[in-house]
Amino acid sequence: MLNEDDKKIVDEVLENFAAIAAIPRPSFHEKAISDYLLGAFRALGCEVRQDAANNIVADRAASPGFESAPRVILQAHMDMVCVAAEGVEYDPLRDPIRLRRAGDALAAEGTSLGADDGAGIAIMLYVFRHAENVGPLRAIITTDEEVSMKGAQALDAEALADADYLINVDSENVDELIRGCAGSVDIAFRRKITWRTQSEGYAWRVSVRGLLGGHSGERIADGRGNALRVLAQTLHALRHAGVSVSVASMKGGSAKNAIASEAEALIVTREEEEVLHRVLFDTERHTRTALGTVDPGLSVALSEEEAPPRVLSDADAAAVTDALLLLHTGVFQMSATMPGLVETSANLGLLRTEENEIWFSYFARSSVDEKLADLSESCRVLGERLGLAADIAKPSPGWRERPQSMLADLMAAIFEEQNGCPMKVGVIHAGLECGWHIQKAPHLDMVSVGVTTRDIHSPKETLDLTTVAPEVRLIMETLRRIAKKCTDLKG
Ligand SMILES: [Zn+2]
Repeated sequence: MLNEDDKKIVDEVLENFAAIAAIPRPSFHEKAISDYLLGAFRALGCEVRQDAANNIVADRAASPGFESAPRVILQAHMDMVCVAAEGVEYDPLRDPIRLRRAGDALAAEGTSLGADDGAGIAIMLYVFRHAENVGPLRAIITTDEEVSMKGAQALDAEALADADYLINVDSENVDELIRGCAGSVDIAFRRKITWRTQSEGYAWRVSVRGLLGGHSGERIADGRGNALRVLAQTLHALRHAGVSVSVASMKGGSAKNAIASEAEALIVTREEEEVLHRVLFDTERHTRTALGTVDPGLSVALSEEEAPPRVLSDADAAAVTDALLLLHTGVFQMSATMPGLVETSANLGLLRTEENEIWFSYFARSSVDEKLADLSESCRVLGERLGLAADIAKPSPGWRERPQSMLADLMAAIFEEQNGCPMKVGVIHAGLECGWHIQKAPHLDMVSVGVTTRDIHSPKETLDLTTVAPEVRLIMETLRRIAKKCTDLKG
C-alpha cells in the first residue's frame, strides 16, 4: 500500500504516463509522440529541440543560485515494443495502450504496457516540473531504441558535450544501478544455393528439440545447449559414420539474440533407417551427457517425410555445417574484474534456407569493443575459407565501466539512506544506449537506473507502482546533492 506522500507522486507520474500511453509509438513510428513531448517540455518552460531522428532534447534552466552547478542529463527512449496476447485485436500504429491497474501493479489490456520506457519519461516529466535547488537539467529522449538504437546513434554529440553527468532511466529494477554494459555486433553468414535434383533415396526430418534457450545476454554463461550447433553435430556424425546424406533445407532458432532451442533439417539418403537411428541416438546421448543437468531435455528425432524436389549441393551443405561446428557459441571470456560477469560471448541464433540462399546469424557481445572487432575479423576469414559471405553490421559500442564513478557512489549511498537497504551495483552483459553516449562523450559520468518492471516486451508487462516514488526521490536527491556539492565547493 502507498502512503499519502507516495500516492501524490504516483498519481502525477501516472497522469504523465497515461498521456504517453494514449499515443501509439512503436519503433520507427515516433513522430506523434515526439511532437507531444516537444509540447510537454515546452509547457514546463524548457527550451526544446527536435532533431532529424525525432529525438527530443529539452533544457531546463538551473534553480536560482545554482547556475554554476554542473549540467545533468536525464535520458530515456520514447519507442516501445508493441505486442498483443493471442486473440487480441491490436493495431500498434493506431490503437492506444489501455491501462489496467490492479492494486499496486499497472498493466495493459491485452498488450504490452510500454513502461519500458514510458515510465522513465513520465518520471522525467515529474522531476522537471518539481525539482528545486538543482543545477541545469537536460532531458534527452531518443527514438528506435528497441530495434537498433538509431536515435542514440543519430544524437548530436553536442547534446552530451556540455554536461558532466548522465542518468539513463531505462533499467528494470529500482534497487539496481548499472555502471557498464556490453557492445554487440550482428554477423550474418550467407551462401548462395546451388540446387540440384535428387531422385533416389528416402526423405527424413531430423529434429532437435527440448533445449531451454533463453536471452543470449542474460543466459549465455549457463552452459545451455544450442540447437543449431546440435543439428550441425548430428549432420557431421552422419557424414563421419560414412552415411551419404543430401540436405534439402536447414532451419532453426527464433531470434538472433535468443539461444536457439529448436532446429531441423530435411535430408535425403539411401541409408537404412536402423543406421540413421543409431547415429542419431549416439549423438543425442553424447550431447545430453555433455550438457548434464544444465539443459537435460534434449531430443534428436527422426521422422519420415515426403521426398523434396531438390536438395542443396554437397558443397553448400558442408560449408554451412562446418561453419556451425567451428563457430564457438557461448562464453569466450569472463570479466577479469567483476566476478560472474561475462565479458565476451557469441550466440548462434537464426538459421534459414530461402529460395536462393542459406544463412545464419551469429550475434556477439563484449564489454571491450576491440574484442568485437577481433571476433568480426575472425568471422570474415572463416567465412572466406568456408565459402560463406560474412555480413558484419555496424557494431553497437559497449560502455566500459570506469574505475571511479562519483555519480554511481553518490546514488548508491542516497538509495541506502532513503530505503535502508543497499543498492545492487553492477555491469550487464547486454546493450544500453549508454554505449553510444560514451563513445561520443567519454568524459560523461553515467549510470542507468529505473523503476521495477516485469515481463517487458510481452503482453504480461507490468509496472510495480510501489517503486515509482522511491525512484523519483532517488533522482531528485541526487540532483540536489550534485548542485549543492558544487556550490558548497565554490562558496
Ligand atoms: Zn527500454
